[in-house]
Amino acid sequence: MKILVAVKRVVDYNVKVRVKADNSGVDLANVKMSMNPFCEIAVEEAVRLKEKGVATEIIAVSVGPTAAQEQLRTALALGADRAILVESTEDLSSLSIAKLLKAVVDKEQPQLVILGKQAIDSDNNQTGQMLAALSGYGQGTFASAVVVEGDRVKVTREIDGGAQTVDLKLPAIVTTDLRLNEPRYASLPNIMKAKKKPMETLKPEELGVSTASTLKTVKVEAPAARSAGIMVKSVDELVDKLKNEAKVI
Ligand code: AMP
Repeated sequence: MKILVAVKRVVDYNVKVRVKADNSGVDLANVKMSMNPFCEIAVEEAVRLKEKGVATEIIAVSVGPTAAQEQLRTALALGADRAILVESTEDLSSLSIAKLLKAVVDKEQPQLVILGKQAIDSDNNQTGQMLAALSGYGQGTFASAVVVEGDRVKVTREIDGGAQTVDLKLPAIVTTDLRLNEPRYASLPNIMKAKKKPMETLKPEELGVSTASTLKTVKVEAPAARSAGIMVKSVDELVDKLKNEAKVI
C-alpha cells in the first residue's frame, strides 16, 4: 500500500513571529523554518504503518519554495522513501494546495493520504477536507487512531467531549490530531541516508493546475499588547476594583 504524506514548511513553533510593518503578513526574514508539527505526526503514522507491514511505500509531498526540500529531507530521514516538491514561490490558498495535491494523488494513486489537521502558520484547517472533496475520497479528520484492515481504514476522531470512529473505504484521506502519536527524532545515520533518497521537483503547470487565487489577505495584525497589571493593597481594594472598574462581579 502506497501512502502519500503532505508536509508543509512553516515558521518553527518556538519562534515569536513578527508582523510586517505594512501589515501584509508575517516577517519571514531570518526566521527558523521547520516541518509543521501536525505533518510530523502524519509522517510518523505513515512510518509506523510501514513498520507494521501495512504500507509498502511512503511518498512525502510538499508545495512550496525550493527551501521546502529541507522539510522533505527531514521526512525522508524519518522514514519516507521518496519525495516530491511541487515548487512554487506564490502564497497559495488552501484550495490551490488541495488542487495540486489532488494532481499528485492522480499521478501516484496512493491508498492513503495523510495530512496534518492544521498548518500552524495559517491555521486554515481545510486542505485535507478540500482534497477529500476534490478526489471524492472518504475523510477521517482529527485522527487520534488509525487502523488499516484490508481495503478499509478505521479512524478514531477527536470530537467535542469524546471520540468518534469512522470506517472508510480506501483510498481515503486522514488528517492528524495531536494525540495520534509522538513523532520520533531522525537519527544521524538516517539523516545521511536521506540525502541519497529520490526527490522529484514538479511545477504547478506540469501538473496542469492553475493556482490563480480567489482569496486575498486583506490585513495581518499582531494581537493587542497586554496592559501592565497593578498591585492591590488589600482584598477589599481588589473586590472594589473587580466590581467598579472591571465590572466583572
Ligand atoms: P491547512 O489546511 O493549511 O491548515 O493545512 C493542513 C495540512 O494540509 C497540513 O498539515 C499539511 O499536511 C497540508 N498542507 C497545507 N499546505 C501545504 C503545503 N504547502 N504543502 C504540503 N502540504 C500542505
